[in-house]
Amino acid sequence: MKTVPGKTWLGKPEDVNQAILEWQKKFPEIVRIDEEKQFSGDSVYAVTVTANNDKPKKNFMVAVPHAHEPAGTAAAMNFLNEVITGTKLDGSATTLPRDEILEKVRLTFIPLANPFGAKKSPVDWWDGSKYSNEEFGDIMKGRLLNNPPVGTVGIFWHYHPVFNQDAERLEEIGIVWEQLSESLYGEPHFYKGCTWWQLVERLSDEFHYDLLIELHQGMEGWEEMDTLVIRPQENWVPKESLEYAGKVEAKVIEAWKNAGAKPHPGDKEYYQRAGKGWFPDLDKPNERLKMSGDWLSIKCGTPQLTIEVQNNNQRTPAEEQLLYQQTAIEACVEMLL
Ligand SMILES: [Zn+2]
Repeated sequence: MKTVPGKTWLGKPEDVNQAILEWQKKFPEIVRIDEEKQFSGDSVYAVTVTANNDKPKKNFMVAVPHAHEPAGTAAAMNFLNEVITGTKLDGSATTLPRDEILEKVRLTFIPLANPFGAKKSPVDWWDGSKYSNEEFGDIMKGRLLNNPPVGTVGIFWHYHPVFNQDAERLEEIGIVWEQLSESLYGEPHFYKGCTWWQLVERLSDEFHYDLLIELHQGMEGWEEMDTLVIRPQENWVPKESLEYAGKVEAKVIEAWKNAGAKPHPGDKEYYQRAGKGWFPDLDKPNERLKMSGDWLSIKCGTPQLTIEVQNNNQRTPAEEQLLYQQTAIEACVEMLL
């Protein structure tokens, strides 16, 4: 893969931020930047792109919450570059219907929700060639004092959407966490105290998004499948949102098959299992089982889905990770046109 030298894979904060600030400077007509600072001083950016007119538009938000899942960031940056500049990051012309997208859709991308974590990542992407999944797990989640079995660390991160280092005394704090104060650390997907949620809520109040997708990576050990859509199926999410998310899921799975991926056919019990098995009350007491993103569906009717592409497995090299993430973004935009 032609990657770092030609900057066709933008995943680290310095590369991502440089590209964002250049877009802002060169294309101020169509690019708006919103920013929040993490406790560490790192900037989290939301890039909003659309034609500069008052026509009614569909509003689409894409976010990449996890610092150890860089293919979503790379795909978001490449897609944005195509729509903003008309060229892919490798310099070739885009084949996207760029004018139509700009006219009909307002894109808001948060390509790197946790730069504090991402800047500590030892690699640009995880393809299984450098680190075993156990080593990857240590780097991502961290290590508990005296190194208990890796499975316990897996349980730790699911049970602690936020933790106090003074109490927990992790020997190593993994790159998934965002530092929130001198001693508090949050997990950006579940803990709404993490910085990027301020951008999500503020922009959501302004644009009431028609669709939200989070780009994630997981399934490190999977040998049969390499892509998965997760979406809420629960009764507290408005029915219309669930139905629309179902249509998006079908479209993304179809697009993945056409791109050569092996998608999971759909996991209807994922949320139910996750809620019962893993998560305590998070920051919403008595709302056990709800995911943080569900609130946008309840508040604004925003359908939301989680996109998963295989991470750290030699079955799915970096260029395929990038392709499958971008395929999911493009399938969603096609739905909105
Ligand atoms: Zn994730």
